[in-house]
Parts: sequence; structure tokens; C-alpha cells
Amino acid sequence: MTLGRQASGAGKIGVERDRCVGAGQCVLAAPTVFDQDEEEGLVLVLDDEPSASVADAVREAVWACPSGALTLR
Ligand code: SF4
Repeated sequence: MTLGRQASGAGKIGVERDRCVGAGQCVLAAPTVFDQDEEEGLVLVLDDEPSASVADAVREAVWACPSGALTLR
């Protein structure tokens, strides 16, 4: 069987921190992948190439972000 190129992971996360409004939806959806800094509450990506086991959570985070700060390739 041939596996797709994303088979070993959830993909590559991109973040535009200047678009982040600190809503925290990404942290709620995928707390092992996203965090917020203590000063401004802006997103921190803990793992920009997370494992496939959190792929659904990462997609949820990207979908839920109200400012479009996150992308997944
Ligand atoms: S959901 Fe979007 S706006 Fe909210 S903290 Fe995460 S990246 Fe920032």
C-alpha cells in the first residue's frame, strides 16, 4: 500500500503571530501543539510538525481560529 506524504504527521503548521488576537481557541483544540505567551496571550506553537495522532485536533484549531492566524500544509 502506498501512503500519502502526510502519512507520518499532521502536516506543517504556519502561524502569523501579528494576526493572532489571543482568543485561545487553538489551545483549547490542541493543547499539546499550541500555547499562549504569558505577556500578550499570543499563540506559541509548541510543535510545528505534530504527529498524525493529533491531526484532527490541529485541523480543528486551524478551523476555530477567529483571526486566520494558523495554516496547515
Ligand atoms: S485561536 Fe488564533 S487568535 Fe486565538 S490564540 Fe490561537 S492563533 Fe491566536
